[in-house]
Formats: sequence, structure tokens, C-alpha cells
Amino acid sequence: MIKMYLPILTYHRLLEENPSQAIDPKRISVSAGQFRAHLRWLKRLGYQTVSLADYPERLRNHQPFPSKSFAITFDDGYEDVLTLGLPILQEMGFTAAVFAVPGEFGGLNRWDDGKARLMTEDQLRRLQKAGITIGAHTCSHVHLPQVSSDIAQREIAESKMKLEQTLGQAVTLFAYPYGEYNEAAEEAVRGTGFHAAFATDRAPREHDKHLFHLRRVVIFPRTNVWEILWKVQQWYPAYQDWKTNRWGGGAVGRHIMIVSPHRPIAPSPYRPIALWLPVIIWAAFIFYLSSIPHLRFLPNHWDFLVRKIGHLGVYGILARLLARALTGSTLWSWKKIFMWSLVLTMLYACTDEFHQSFVPGRSATVHDVLIDSAGAWLALGLRP
Ligand SMILES: [Zn+2]
Repeated sequence: MIKMYLPILTYHRLLEENPSQAIDPKRISVSAGQFRAHLRWLKRLGYQTVSLADYPERLRNHQPFPSKSFAITFDDGYEDVLTLGLPILQEMGFTAAVFAVPGEFGGLNRWDDGKARLMTEDQLRRLQKAGITIGAHTCSHVHLPQVSSDIAQREIAESKMKLEQTLGQAVTLFAYPYGEYNEAAEEAVRGTGFHAAFATDRAPREHDKHLFHLRRVVIFPRTNVWEILWKVQQWYPAYQDWKTNRWGGGAVGRHIMIVSPHRPIAPSPYRPIALWLPVIIWAAFIFYLSSIPHLRFLPNHWDFLVRKIGHLGVYGILARLLARALTGSTLWSWKKIFMWSLVLTMLYACTDEFHQSFVPGRSATVHDVLIDSAGAWLALGLRP
């Protein structure tokens, strides 16, 4: 049977300007320009949005969407989704779903910084008329696993009822505030008559088996056009899980991910520099060491040993830095990263020996390359 997964992007707010720490301390916004760039890029590459309205039924019947399909969702129902987002969606011929908080119509996002304006009932109806799917997101944006089951039940049921009164049609989709759900919340959502519920990036990857905690991909203030292309790929959740387990998985990593929609860690544009600059600096340091004529650490035969251990350590560090950079910039398996780090370190060791053959009092030896490789091998063997 085909595994079903539709890439569903989660946006919150749109801003006219670039989000700054002052305007967007919770880091849930993207600028309208950035949003347009995301969509334009995806459209150019042949991607199309699909409506989530019939997604639950498709999942139950195992009817996948064509490849290059994705969905857009906006949580909370901010006014800027109507004023800034809708024109862009229309310009691109795309659709979206908005998960609104009907207890706070026309108010402010009190659960966050209380500064962002939410849509009024009238505004929400305008969105609905424009073909946007409206879903529920509780009445007052509560942490469902933290409130009593009575309150959770009421928050869920009333959000459906109020939205249906406002829109004059059935509301069948639900999104968990903060992406947080537990069994009781899920049961309440199911029992209230919703057809599906959306979580965030800690939910399982198979949509057809988990209709009441569908995985979505969170968009951050600095998600660039390259990252957006990654985020609409079928393999992206697998990559994300692999990365989470590799770097700070376990309890702490998981906790951060669960609360991520409102406290995301944005991918930095300086990331490539942070990954590769240490490699370059360390390689330059090795080059410098090799260019010192008659390099000796100790006056006697111990110097030989010190230098060999030095070789092991220095190349071990180079290999680890390479592995770190490759892990951060590729989707390769550890095996492949291991191999390439080793090969690149060995190649550099060869050029370094070649370099030393020109330095007075230094010489090129094959066994030094072997010692360097052994250092790399040992260092890589100690997996993180
Ligand atoms: Zn929310």
C-alpha cells in the first residue's frame, strides 16, 4: 500500500516588513515579500496547492494527490492573512486553510504577545468566500494537554460550533494550538465530529494512519526559497526526524520541537559559514604548521613521538570538522559522511605532505599520510 503524506506548510502571521525581534518575538511571521517569493518559486517549479477540505476523505480512500502537490495553512487567523496573504494567494492561483480562534474574533493574540490583530467574523467570511478553507483552533488558544478534560472538550466543541454559526457551513478540520495533543484531546476532536486534526513536526510521518494528528511543516521567519523547496518534498519529514535524533534528540530536543510553532529556532543564513569556516581555518592551521622549517617540539627523540601523536590529533579534528559540515549541509547517511570525511582528509594529508617536500628541514613521507588517515579514522569512529 502507498504511504500517504502531503506536504502541508504551517504559516502564522504575514508582515509588511521583515520580521524583527521587536515586532515578532515569538518568531512566527514571514514578510509578505518572502511569502510571495516562496510561492512564486514553487509555482515556477510546477508545484500546486490543493484544498485540505477533502483531504481526510482522500486519506481514507487512499487517493493520493498528484506529485508536486502541497497545502498551505495559517494558524490563529491573523488579520494580515486576509490583507496581505489573500492577494498573494490569488495572484498565484493558490489556496490555503486558516485555523481560527473564534473566542477571540477581532481581538488580539492574548496567548502570545497580545499585539497582533485577529480577524473579525466578517473578515473570516470574506476569506471563506474567496475559497479559503476555514478550520478550528480551539476557542481561546489553550494548551490542550495542560487543561482539564472538561475545558479541553469545551474549547474544541465550542470552536466548531461558533465557527459553523459564523460561516453557515460545516467546519470539519481542526489544528492543535502549539501542535500539542494527547489521547484525550484527540478523542475529543474525533468525538466532536471533526474529520481530521493537524499537529506540527513532531507528529508521525504517515498521514493515512494518523488522521487526528497530521504532520505539518513549520515555516520560520527566515525560511528562504531554497528551504521552502526542501520543505515540500516527500522525504523532508524523514530528514527532519533524522536530524532531530542526531542533534539533541531525546527529551530536551523533543520538548523544544513540541513547543516549536511559537518558539521556533530559525535556520540562520550564516549556517554555511558556521559549518565550513572551521574546516577552512583548521586546514589553514595545518598548512601553517607544515610551512615552519625544521619544526621541532622537543630537542630529543621524544620529538618523533610528539609529532606523530600531533599528526593523529590534528587530522582527527579535521575529519570531525568535515563530518560536521557535511552532516549540516547534506542529507547523506552517516556511512557516506564517514567515507567522504575520510577521503577528503586523506587527500588533504597527501597535499600537505607534498607541501612539506618543499619546506627546508621537512620531508614528505607515505607513513605520515597513513598516520593522518588513522587519526581521521579514529576520530570518525567516535560517533556523536
Ligand atoms: Zn496557534
